[in-house]
Amino acid sequence: SVTNLYAALRAGFPADLDTPAIETDEGLVYTWRDLERGSAMIANLLAGLDLPPASRVVVQVDKSVEALMLYLGTLRAGHVYVPLNTAYPAAEVEYFIDDAEPAVVVCAPQRFGWVSALVFRRGARAVFTLGADRSGTLLDRAAHQPDQQVPAAVGAQALASIIYTSGTTGRSKGAMLTHGNLLANAEVLRRYWDWRPDDVLIHVLPIFHVHGLFVAVHGALLNGSPMLWAAKFDPCTVLNWLPRATVFMGVPTLYTRLLAESELTAERCAHMRLFISGSAPLLIETFRTWQQRTGHTILERYGMSETIMLTSNPCTPDPRYGGQAERRGGTVGFPLPGVALRIVGDGDRPLPTGEVGGVQVRGPSVFQGYWRMPDKTRAEFTADGWFRTGDVGVIDERGYLTLVGRSKDLIISGGYNVYPAEVEGAINELPGVAESAVVGVPHPDFGEVGVALVIAQPGHRIDPDAVLATLRTRLANYKVPKRCVVVDELPRNAMGKVQKNLLRERYRDSFA
Ligand code: ATP
Ligand code: MG
Repeated sequence: SVTNLYAALRAGFPADLDTPAIETDEGLVYTWRDLERGSAMIANLLAGLDLPPASRVVVQVDKSVEALMLYLGTLRAGHVYVPLNTAYPAAEVEYFIDDAEPAVVVCAPQRFGWVSALVFRRGARAVFTLGADRSGTLLDRAAHQPDQQVPAAVGAQALASIIYTSGTTGRSKGAMLTHGNLLANAEVLRRYWDWRPDDVLIHVLPIFHVHGLFVAVHGALLNGSPMLWAAKFDPCTVLNWLPRATVFMGVPTLYTRLLAESELTAERCAHMRLFISGSAPLLIETFRTWQQRTGHTILERYGMSETIMLTSNPCTPDPRYGGQAERRGGTVGFPLPGVALRIVGDGDRPLPTGEVGGVQVRGPSVFQGYWRMPDKTRAEFTADGWFRTGDVGVIDERGYLTLVGRSKDLIISGGYNVYPAEVEGAINELPGVAESAVVGVPHPDFGEVGVALVIAQPGHRIDPDAVLATLRTRLANYKVPKRCVVVDELPRNAMGKVQKNLLRERYRDSFA
């Protein structure tokens, strides 16, 4: 049984700790011993503050290897890691600090002034700084600490992290994840994605969310695989690394940005084993073009802050599904081993294969609830313990899950359910369309109708009326948006997700 997630990750490090664990885009090399020592020193620094167990450590710093050590050190010390999106401005940070009530805050040196004023008023014990260039008080203070530390024996049920959701559908909520939740998911992904001794991971995602921090980092550490590490995504850096790497993880926008580079070729990807996508829907167009250009089939998977990873397309033949190994574009694959997943209709009634409904899950990685939101937590679990993901999907006869949208984004037009993803799919097939988003807005007759926001491919012009006219020949009338607007871009949050709440707000008076 787990006593501390760090101890389990540490057990995966290679026998020779003096080999490279991380190589950065600045050319710095960190060995496994560096990770072990650096995280021990930070754990000892935290331990010296005499905090109550499971104190929150709120961290808003640029991505760096030292920030990763801070995460590992927090686990080792038995405290709760609470990373914040670096894009959050002061007002947002204040909300999160009020909510999390941290004992320790680590922020960028240039933010120390206002963060410390804010935090000490609320009873925090320490504010440290950590800059992108490794400056700041955190490392100054940690440098005086012993470099050996025995990870706190906290147990599988202990809180390891509170991850704030991306805030795509409303205000972010803190999802409470335990050492056991995180390890269970890391172990299942290690097997399901067939991590190998010689794997090398390209890590270009932010480390304040599940994707970059848990899926990517835990995968590499648990498997003792080195990472090629960039603080920010840059297509040229990735292109240079591809011949030395085997695994890449990205959100869909990273794949589109790589496709824009003419140097992305099958030859350059010949050494790669696996390309993984998630966090937002991967356009089928991207999936197909990637296959043609590189010879690799992107593996799409699905998860969320509250559950970590839930489903995945197969990496190798899946014996549970007749040995199917096909990665099907547009789907998010099968429930991971140990995850129970069902599609439900009204009243949480399970629906048969092929019917669209709410996605509910149970499993060892499902979180303990929303931080300080007992009512919200109660509302999102059924009486018999299924978690309502808020996503809407359908499972086909072969067992693949396809997501069709979020329940909050469903459009109910004249009494009929319209799934935005289906309409967007139809629009994206039209010539000259790069991308689209469909949102529901109030309408005096139909209650709600769809408004389509469409982005043209470079060099193409799109006639909104022609889009609607073509859709009328392809979709049932109630699914056809009543308005189409050509736009230059869609509002996205840091994870590349389209913020439909902002679009609904922007277009809400379309038919008023
Ligand atoms: P909030 O809960 O605050 O509104 P959020 O749901 O975007 O924000 P996250 O927990 O970061 O916050 O994201 C999880 C969501 O991302 C899932 O519920 C799902 O809607 C979406 N998602 C993740 N992977 C995929 C995927 N492969 N395809 C489509 N959607 C995905
Ligand atoms: Mg969510």
